[in-house]
Amino acid sequence: MTNLQRLLLEGEYVGTYKYALLISIARWAVENPHWEEGRELDVAALAPHFLELYWPQAKPFAVADRVQEPGLPYGDWEDPELAGVLLQDRGQRQARQAPRILKEILRAYRECGGVLSKLDPGARIALERSVRKTIRDMPLWKLQTLRSSQKPAEVLYHPGRNGYHLRFAPGVAASFAHFAPLVEEIARSAWLRHVLRSNPGLLGAHARVESFLFPDARNGLRLLRAPLLEAQGDRCFYCDGSLRRSMAVDHFLPWARYRRDLGHNFVLAHQRCNSSKSDTLAGLPHLERWVERNQLHGEVLGSRFDDLRIPHDQRLVQRVATSLYELAEAEGADLWLGPGSMAVIQPEWRQILGAVG
Ligand SMILES: [Zn+2]
Repeated sequence: MTNLQRLLLEGEYVGTYKYALLISIARWAVENPHWEEGRELDVAALAPHFLELYWPQAKPFAVADRVQEPGLPYGDWEDPELAGVLLQDRGQRQARQAPRILKEILRAYRECGGVLSKLDPGARIALERSVRKTIRDMPLWKLQTLRSSQKPAEVLYHPGRNGYHLRFAPGVAASFAHFAPLVEEIARSAWLRHVLRSNPGLLGAHARVESFLFPDARNGLRLLRAPLLEAQGDRCFYCDGSLRRSMAVDHFLPWARYRRDLGHNFVLAHQRCNSSKSDTLAGLPHLERWVERNQLHGEVLGSRFDDLRIPHDQRLVQRVATSLYELAEAEGADLWLGPGSMAVIQPEWRQILGAVG
């Protein structure tokens, strides 16, 4: 679970293949409870699950029984054959080009009237073979690639024969079986959010419900700019560049790792530094500067937070920092130093935070 969480927080998710792969592995693991440690698995065994996951998504999206009208701001593919199919990718150059697998599934879908079990057996075999190739080419190694490095971390599995095989790391297959419902839940909700963000036009209502239920604090932080500017000047907290052009309120301890907005956790940074840091913990020079800032300005900041009705608890935030850096050390995690620059955590974080080893 530690490794999986690391892949979710530190991996890059431009499409939905990785979520499909995680769910497929979990479902497969439940079906194979006594998988022998070290045995190679042909990813062909994952293909039926992968196919079943994408099958319903290959048809044009419709609300209730109303089939979509052309020209709505979703399903805006370059390929007219896919009109109305929800986008699964975002932020990439080829975002409007359909993933090969969706096209092939769509064709099969039409061939058998949308009922997978009615698909001609030969066509099904061909389709699963193609899915197997997609798994090998797309998510299999990318799933384990962290933003900080080009080389896969291989925390869940290692490569096996001819690129189509993998070997699970010790205990991983059993853990996937054990935690299958949790993996499924996490991967599904990440997948849903991904599709919502990729198709904002139509799904605004769903997205609004989600952000109503689980408000994303990142939207309401402009108030913090003034007090933070007073405390740190108009320089980026991380790179010390001028903030005149772009300014973001950054959760020093990442929001994805600690979802409470406590005043002393915020710093001002460039948009670019903020999004490059993303969900990773900041490196030790940054940690040192953050502790210093709170020592020097913590009290003044506290009373400004009071004026703005922003909750704060400096000692609690420091304790959360200790807890997060402790976990990072146990994982041997990389810390973020700057755009494109990471370094493995060093034990000195304890001195910086005044934590007893
Ligand atoms: Zn910066």
